[in-house]
Amino acid sequence: MPATAVTRARVAPRGCGSARTQGDIYLEFALHLLDPAALMACLVDPPIPFDQRLWGVPSIGVRTFPDLDGVTHLVDVVGQDAYPETLDFLTEALRLGISRKIPGDFAFDELTPQSTVRLIHARALVTNHAHFSVCPDFSCPVGHQAGEACFHTLHHATPRDEDGTRTTPSGRYPLRSEAPGVTPQYTMANFLTVPVSHLVLVRHPDPAVNQRQLERLRHARIPVVLADA
Ligand SMILES: [Zn+2]
Repeated sequence: MPATAVTRARVAPRGCGSARTQGDIYLEFALHLLDPAALMACLVDPPIPFDQRLWGVPSIGVRTFPDLDGVTHLVDVVGQDAYPETLDFLTEALRLGISRKIPGDFAFDELTPQSTVRLIHARALVTNHAHFSVCPDFSCPVGHQAGEACFHTLHHATPRDEDGTRTTPSGRYPLRSEAPGVTPQYTMANFLTVPVSHLVLVRHPDPAVNQRQLERLRHARIPVVLADA
C-alpha cells in the first residue's frame, strides 16, 4: 500500500445511499474543493449528447475507452433512481465531492493519472432550450445567452417544490425562474468530466477480503487508500 496523501471526498448521506459498502472499491474526486475556474473546466457546457446504445453502457454503470494517445478513460452513467435530476448529482458533488462505486471486474491496471471519468445523465441536456429565452435571471459563466444550448438551462427546467427548491439527501438547493407553460425535453448527455485522482477500498471486517481486493488494485497507477468509510 503506497503511503500517498490524497484529498478525500466527504463521507455523508448521498443519493446513492448513506453508507459505502465494506469491501467495495470507490473512485473519488474532491470536486467540492475546486476553485470556480477549475470547476468550470470540469463542467461540460453545453453537455455533449451521449448515445448509450452506441457506447454499449448499461443503464447504470461504467465502461472504459482508450483515447487517441492510448489513455484509458471511463464513462459512468448516473442512475436516475438515486439522482432523478442532473442537478441533484451536481449539487451533491459540489457539497461532498464525487464518490462512485466501481464494479468488481473492472480493469484497475488501465487507470493512470491522466485518466478521466465522463459522467452521463439521462436528463443532462435540455433540447428545447430555445423556449427558455424568456428567463430573466439566466446566467452562464462561459457566456451562453438564455435560449442557447447550455448546461445552466437546467436551473430553469428542473422540477421543483412549491417554494422553488429541490430536496436531496445532502440538503435543499434553490432553482431559478421557470419558463411558463414550457415542458422541458431532455436528452442523455455528458455534463461533467473529472480526473481520476485516487481509489478507496472501504475496509471489510474480514482481512482476507481486504487482501483480495488490494491484490486486484495492485497494478493501478493511481493512489489507493484503505479507509474505514
Ligand atoms: Zn452555458
